[in-house]
Amino acid sequence: MRESDVPDDLAETLVTEEQITAKIAELAAAIDADYAGKDLLLVAVLKGAFVYMSDLVRALSGQVTVDFMAVSSYGAGTRSSGVVKINKDLDTDITGRHVLIVEDIIDSGLTLSWLLENLRSRGVASIEVAALLRKPDAAKVQVPVKYLGFDIPNAFVVGYGLDYAEKYRNLRSIAVLAPHVYA
Ligand code: 5GP
Repeated sequence: MRESDVPDDLAETLVTEEQITAKIAELAAAIDADYAGKDLLLVAVLKGAFVYMSDLVRALSGQVTVDFMAVSSYGAGTRSSGVVKINKDLDTDITGRHVLIVEDIIDSGLTLSWLLENLRSRGVASIEVAALLRKPDAAKVQVPVKYLGFDIPNAFVVGYGLDYAEKYRNLRSIAVLAPHVYA
């Protein structure tokens, strides 16, 4: 889906399809270099990160494996509840593994801090974060993001995996949702 398919629902483009593609190439090169000779497991947080995960793995040259977790902290609204619940855990035993968490967006950072602690406690060899988007509030908590796509303003965004009430995940770019949609 392109922005022209849902023009009335979007207020502003924040990141174009071309910008995402270029950034992923850059980040993938850094990840390939950092994990050369290592056995890397990418863990994506569903559902939002599924699009980013799929583009990122294909941009990597090294051998990697993937796994998925589903956690919920948002429900159908636009505000973080701070409550994290595991809806689907990993299939992989990550003891001794080099893990890279692939996240769509960091807002308050609550979800990610919780996830980092949870996975670290399973005895990983290393754990880092690749987040496509980060909002200003993320600066308030300690969220170490090794591979960051874009810092964006504090607005509710959709597209490239990110939804509002399960819609707009298939939008190719990242855009601010028009307020009338959730008013
Ligand atoms: P945090 O715990 O960092 O506040 O929230 C992280 C999660 O909230 C993200 O994984 C995402 O699911 C959701 N989220 C935060 N900001 C946005 C946003 O602007 N748009 C959408 N669609 N989801 C968001």
